[in-house]
Amino acid sequence: MSDRDYYEVLGVDKNASAADIKKAYRRLAMKYHPDRNNGDKEAEAKFKEIGEAYEVLGDEQKRAAYDRFGKDAVNGAAGGPGGFGGFGPEGFAGGFANMNDLGDIFSEFFGQGMGGRRRQQSGPRAQQGADLRYDLEITLEQAAKGYTAEIRVPVWEKCDVCDGTGSRSKSKPTTCPHCNGTGMVYAKQGFFSVQQTCPYCHGTGTVISDPCPNCDGTGFKKVMKTLEVKIPAGINQGQRVRLQGKGQPGKNGGPAGDLYVEISIKPHEIFQRDGDDLHVELPISFVTAALGGDVDVPVLDGETRITIPEGTQSGKVLRLRGKGIKSLRSGYMGDLYIHVFVETPVNLTQKQKDLLREFDETISKHGEKHSPKHESFMDKMKGLFS
Ligand SMILES: [Zn+2]
Ligand SMILES: [Zn+2]
Repeated sequence: MSDRDYYEVLGVDKNASAADIKKAYRRLAMKYHPDRNNGDKEAEAKFKEIGEAYEVLGDEQKRAAYDRFGKDAVNGAAGGPGGFGGFGPEGFAGGFANMNDLGDIFSEFFGQGMGGRRRQQSGPRAQQGADLRYDLEITLEQAAKGYTAEIRVPVWEKCDVCDGTGSRSKSKPTTCPHCNGTGMVYAKQGFFSVQQTCPYCHGTGTVISDPCPNCDGTGFKKVMKTLEVKIPAGINQGQRVRLQGKGQPGKNGGPAGDLYVEISIKPHEIFQRDGDDLHVELPISFVTAALGGDVDVPVLDGETRITIPEGTQSGKVLRLRGKGIKSLRSGYMGDLYIHVFVETPVNLTQKQKDLLREFDETISKHGEKHSPKHESFMDKMKGLFS
């Protein structure tokens, strides 16, 4: 049983209305529901704690007793084996009081009410296995050209000790006596009967009397395997490659889940990617900027030569068509944008400095001709202060 204050568990005020308590419970139950947390133990414990708190606070009388006397007053209700609201191995024991709320929650999960199609089928419910995610980091070059990655992932194989039967003696599972093999039981609620997964067999309709110790009765054994994944050219950050059926195995004959390989791309030392385009910052000397000239520019698969026009200013952007990344969708090549950056020379010798001063004098005589930007800037400044 939880040590924490029930109000604290549900995150509500002591004076919270019944509606607020129900709302808080539903929100938390959705969040920590085992189906949504892939069997995470912490989430499961939280889920139980929430169920236990709601069992008391959701009931006017129990809540009043709890407010006056604390947990001791409601212990008898909540302390039994199995606890409340647990979907886990302990099953539903004691949890039926919440069925209405759970019905609402399930309809939010699956977009169907309790009376929906899903609930009316008979026999053990086939369940698809959980999807798995694998995070794969690749380089920009690999993303651009396509790449075959080898990844180590868990794969579920038939248990060879029990030959996949899940039973130690390899005997066939027997029909669950509790639900007569339907996997469903009915709980009476006033005038209504509510159909629910059988808590004894967890919906399988069968029970294994002597579970195989090698696979805990599941019939599957997890082994690590190397899989090849083809990453298509043009893939981008956050995109996923789906490997159908490579997730966790299904239950009751349901299909296996899928394995999603989610791509992240290492930052590149030179290139920045924007969709299918690439950007690069290219430093050039102020002499090249002034006189023009040919310079080498990096492209993804090497280098290429471009001509810097005479009188190029810092910040000018040149575009190389088709030197970006091939689009995953259209197959067209993106472009490479070259952001020119004029570098100011540093560590000059005395002689170099003298040359520059001499050069500057010749420039100053015809300022407007040589420094168009500077001139228009000065004009604007004069306008500002006159
Ligand atoms: Zn086994
Ligand atoms: Zn059963």
